[in-house]
Amino acid sequence: MTDPVKFEGPAVPPRPQRIARREFSRAQKVALIKRAMNGSGRIICERCGLNITGKAIEFDHIIPEALVLDKSVALNLADGLVLGRDCCHRRPGGKTATDLADIAEAKRREAKHLGIPRNRRFFGSGFSPAQPQRSASRPLTKPAVWRCHTE
Ligand SMILES: [Zn+2]
Repeated sequence: MTDPVKFEGPAVPPRPQRIARREFSRAQKVALIKRAMNGSGRIICERCGLNITGKAIEFDHIIPEALVLDKSVALNLADGLVLGRDCCHRRPGGKTATDLADIAEAKRREAKHLGIPRNRRFFGSGFSPAQPQRSASRPLTKPAVWRCHTE
C-alpha cells in the first residue's frame, strides 16, 4: 500500500468579508404582521389592502438591500412592509421587479459617474475600425481570368 498523494496547493486566500443582506428578526416579523392586521385579526397587504390571511406573505424591504450602503444600521419596523407575495411582491411590475430595475439603474448611473464607457468592448484593445471596403468603386488590382484569354 502506498500512501495517498497529498496535494499541497497554495493556501486558499480568505474570502473578502461580504456584508450580508440584513433580515428582519423573528420578533420584528411578528411585530410587522401585528401591524398589518386589521381589527378582526386578518392580515392585510400593506400595499394593496388585499386580505392575505393564510396566503404567502413577504417582508418587503422598502429600500432594497442592494441599494443600502450602510448595513451596520439595524433594520427597524419602519424599513419593512408586509406584502402578499402574489398580489404585490413577486408579480410582474410588483415590488421585486421594480426594485431590480432600480438596482440596475443605480449601477448604470454609478458606472457613468465613474466615467466607465458603456459596452465599448474593444475600446483600447488595439483594434481599429476597419476601412470601408468600397468593392464597387475600387480599381481592380488583378485582371479577371476571362480578360486574359487571347484568341
Ligand atoms: Zn398586495
